[in-house]
Amino acid sequence: MPDIGTGTTPLRVAIIGSGPSGFYAAEHLLRQCDFIVEIDMFDRLPTPFGLVRGGVAPDHDKIKSVTKRFDAVAATPHFRLYGNVTFGQDVTLDDLRAYYHQIIFAVGAQTDRRMGIPGEDLSGSYAATEFVGWYNGHPDYRELHFDLDQRAATVIGNGNVAMDVVRILARSYDELRKTDIADYALEALGKSHVQDIYLLGRRGPAQASFTPPELKELGEMECAEVIVRPEDAALDPLTQEWLKSNSTSVIDKNLALLADYARREPSGKPKRIHVRFLTSPVEVIGTERMTALKVVKNELFPSSDGSLRPKPTEQYETIEAGLVFRSIGYMGVALPGVPFDEKRAVIPNALGRVLDPATGAPVPGLYAAGWIKRGPSGIIGTNKPDALETVQAMCEDIKAGSVPAGPVQGRDALDAMLRARNVEYVTYQDWQLLDKLEVANGQAVGRPRLKFTRVEDMLNALRAEKARM
Ligand code: NAP
Repeated sequence: MPDIGTGTTPLRVAIIGSGPSGFYAAEHLLRQCDFIVEIDMFDRLPTPFGLVRGGVAPDHDKIKSVTKRFDAVAATPHFRLYGNVTFGQDVTLDDLRAYYHQIIFAVGAQTDRRMGIPGEDLSGSYAATEFVGWYNGHPDYRELHFDLDQRAATVIGNGNVAMDVVRILARSYDELRKTDIADYALEALGKSHVQDIYLLGRRGPAQASFTPPELKELGEMECAEVIVRPEDAALDPLTQEWLKSNSTSVIDKNLALLADYARREPSGKPKRIHVRFLTSPVEVIGTERMTALKVVKNELFPSSDGSLRPKPTEQYETIEAGLVFRSIGYMGVALPGVPFDEKRAVIPNALGRVLDPATGAPVPGLYAAGWIKRGPSGIIGTNKPDALETVQAMCEDIKAGSVPAGPVQGRDALDAMLRARNVEYVTYQDWQLLDKLEVANGQAVGRPRLKFTRVEDMLNALRAEKARM
């Protein structure tokens, strides 16, 4: 086999998934100096950026500016995007093996965790991931309908996704209009009757996963106020003891903000965000659609790993609410032909090297990065060191000669294969056309962007633009 990574035999890498972990992996691969590399990035959508486009809340536009960095990666001649190509359907792992020395799976976590309580499937009960995909204009979720005629909603979980859901439910039409929220979601939320939003955490305020800027933001809403009962801001004796050795600046800031909210007098804003702790849902009540959520008060106990865990008491309460959004974590989904750890919902790996579950040995040429590698935690930037670890393992493997033997085919052959299969792939230049169109369409109606939310609309717009050019 010729030396891989030279001018005549560049290292060919496929990255499945065009979210932050995929782009950071591409950036690290292009920066390393040992090998000449060609990177082809695949995404099932015609639009890149994964959760930066489909997950980050529309009112957090600064976070989305990371895409400028990804533009720079995509501008290198060694990089190509193949959007609108579904792994396992348009191309299989066996197909890709013929075109790439190494393949990185950076597909994120495509589904959500369930609460596992009676009534969870009643109408009115949703996954936060569905709501997030819907308001962000993700084609998979755009046809969903959320019954916003309800007066009260509950949001389960104390992470930053729960905070996003609460904020978007509480924002005014004018606040949302300034964002790139999907047009249909803007209209539906503008007519929303939701006035009371209950944010329910199963543990106490010191154990919440949300971060201070997000908690502070809740108190700065145009039409909504935060209501924290003094008993919810108070710390139980176990937590007070636990904080002596586990306190962090994030916890301190969260506690100070909550104490401040608990001291505030109601201001009479039309929407109210009720922040409750030590509360778990036990049943979604209703016949066909939910009418209320039965919850139980929890208390904490010290677990063997030193953390404080929740356990239910006998104290129940019914919250009259027509909506519940479970926001208790994302979950990875298995990819066809790729090892998967069902228990942890990740691709089993060591430092990013995909492991064969039967032998525990690395599968030559296969790697993972991001949430599908480590689970759904961390902010966008967390994916940078995560992807570097994977890229370092890839480089070590080439040096050690442990990439699959045999030559691989180049881009022309790949393009021909996709064309023969009638796969209408979308390049990065195509995406940049779509991007310009979205911004122009938004500006025409006084908004920052009007997203395309149907794959067919994206492809039609591209066909029309190319025909004009
Ligand atoms: P997360 O931060 O892991 O939070 C999950 C929450 O669900 C925790 O409060 C957890 O409580 C709770 N939970 C889990 N199982 C539960 C159950 N059965 N009943 C009740 N509550 C339950 O996850 P996430 O909010 O989905 O966010 C994913 C990642 O994206 C996080 O790292 C987050 O910081 C990041 N993110 C960042 C931003 C931002 O930077 N603005 C925005 C969105 C997301 P326990 O702690 O008790 O397990």
